[in-house]
Amino acid sequence: MTPDDVARPATAIRDAGPEEMFRGALQLIAESVTELVGFQLACISVVRTSPDGTQELEVIADAGDDLTGEIIIGRRTPLKSLLLEIEKAEVWGQFRFLPHELLETQEVGEEYGWAVPDIEPIDAPDAWHPLDLLVALLHDDQGTLRGTLAIDLPDDGRRPGPEQRRLLERFAAQAGRAVVTALEREELAEQVRLAETARTIVRQANAQEGLDRILQDCQQGLVEGFRSRGSWIQTFDEDGAGTGAIHSSAGIDVRLPDGLVGLAERAARRAWADQSVVVVTGDRPAHDVLAEDDHRRIVAFLDAIGVGSLLFVPLGAGSECLGNLVLTRADGDPEWSELDRTAALDIGHDLGRVVLNARNFEREHQLVVELRALDAYKGQLIGTVSHELKNPLAAVSGYLEMLQSSPELGPGSRSAVEAMSRGATRLGRVVDDLLLLSKVGDPSHAIIPAPVDLVPLVAEVVDLIDVQARQKGIPITTEVSGGWLVAHGDAWEIDRVVTNLLSNAVKYTAPGGSVGVRLWRDDEGVHVTVSDEGLGISADDQEHLFDEFFRSTNPEAVREPGTGLGLAIVRRIVDRHDGRIRVDSEVGRGSVFTVTLPAPPA
Ligand code: ADP
Repeated sequence: MTPDDVARPATAIRDAGPEEMFRGALQLIAESVTELVGFQLACISVVRTSPDGTQELEVIADAGDDLTGEIIIGRRTPLKSLLLEIEKAEVWGQFRFLPHELLETQEVGEEYGWAVPDIEPIDAPDAWHPLDLLVALLHDDQGTLRGTLAIDLPDDGRRPGPEQRRLLERFAAQAGRAVVTALEREELAEQVRLAETARTIVRQANAQEGLDRILQDCQQGLVEGFRSRGSWIQTFDEDGAGTGAIHSSAGIDVRLPDGLVGLAERAARRAWADQSVVVVTGDRPAHDVLAEDDHRRIVAFLDAIGVGSLLFVPLGAGSECLGNLVLTRADGDPEWSELDRTAALDIGHDLGRVVLNARNFEREHQLVVELRALDAYKGQLIGTVSHELKNPLAAVSGYLEMLQSSPELGPGSRSAVEAMSRGATRLGRVVDDLLLLSKVGDPSHAIIPAPVDLVPLVAEVVDLIDVQARQKGIPITTEVSGGWLVAHGDAWEIDRVVTNLLSNAVKYTAPGGSVGVRLWRDDEGVHVTVSDEGLGISADDQEHLFDEFFRSTNPEAVREPGTGLGLAIVRRIVDRHDGRIRVDSEVGRGSVFTVTLPAPPA
């Protein structure tokens, strides 16, 4: 044997990439022990922690003629039995040698990995006996036992001499390094895979879709990420009962027997409170959160549907448990590792948040739908009532007009009729504004936009209002900057906007003040500014200015006749034109209202 032969496995380990290659490297070490040191059997195991916390040895590489047929890759045996057995063994460096004479039980082979081979020892003082035990304990740098290298049946039928022991020691050192690296790589690969699963789940969960769809979409990632055979998710309904939808990755409905639904719900709550996940399998005792009886019922159900084991994960957010996730594996699949369990609990948190968000979203959505319905109803009511008022009001106003012109009317009756007439006019204004408000607030009657030249439109409005303004001694100035002052919208509605703003400016300005209209255009659109030197509006009032029926808290303003609907109409018209309105005002100094409307390209 050359130094190269011993170095061969080490090189293989260094160059190995994926998990399988590490297994290959360990295999090579086992084979080297058999071929180069001269043993018929070598077997490398790693220490695993089972879900109930006990440590076990899992065979991950073996070489040689397994005369017993007992060594199976993946086979697990309790570590404790081996450690107890070798307490009295001779210490050969990393190896422990237990001559058969010291064995307490003749069954030991079966306890830690394989049965006793059926061979006859040779006739020599150093003869190897089939019950002799030789095993190296493989530790990591921190001194933690990570695996074992067990060997059996020397080719020459003798217990190993100093030369063989020296070689064995070197292979044990290599096997130790390889086992630690393999376990670290395995863990790293698991971590990467599970982190990727979590990322995928979170990404899918952020999709703006309904909860059912999100949970359905997550299943594939969960099954792949956790290397499970299937998964299902149960969410609790709004009242917290476990009757929510159950989604299964296979696309088939999982029909849980009634009793199990309630059981899963209770178990999820307990597991969430403990922040733990539960592994259920026939080979292991019940987890703390499950009563012995419940455990048996679940195992019976798993048997019935052909599932070997399940990982039960509570879903929740904060202190609230919102459902559970179940991942399944078949008999013969790997056990749920510590990493699986930690990652699953993290995903329980992610999915819990998804359930909560989706619920809040659905609730908000429902609220919006209800509010919209309410708003539509209010609009209809206003429209219908004002419509119904209009005709009788027209009759009342008509007769009042006739009465006023009647010569037989005495002075007392005349002033009563005049008061009625003023009231009817005021009522007529309210009804007109209500009708207009309901019209411009009705989304089913959208505007049909067309180019509207604002210069003549504004000039007409100014002309009309100028009559009142003159009576109050208020001059209205108009300033037009630049050309192509064309808006994209409905001419009649834009006319209402300018009329309402301008009539307010005149109404809320004392005689002697002035009012101005300015028209200009920039990249944003066309702008109409109506400014006055009137009462001004307090900051508090500005917040409610565009609300329906809002009238100022300023007593001077309230003295003016008004409905509180003019600006509400303006806001609705501007909104349905995709425009903007802003107000700058200060009490005692005046107000500036600026409306911006979209403009067609020049
Ligand atoms: P109104 O019919 O009362 O004028 P609006 O909706 O047009 O209803 O206006 C709401 C309130 O806003 C008015 O009652 C008034 O107090 C205030 N307001 C509107 N425009 C002005 C303005 N140019 N100057 C001062 N206050 C104004």
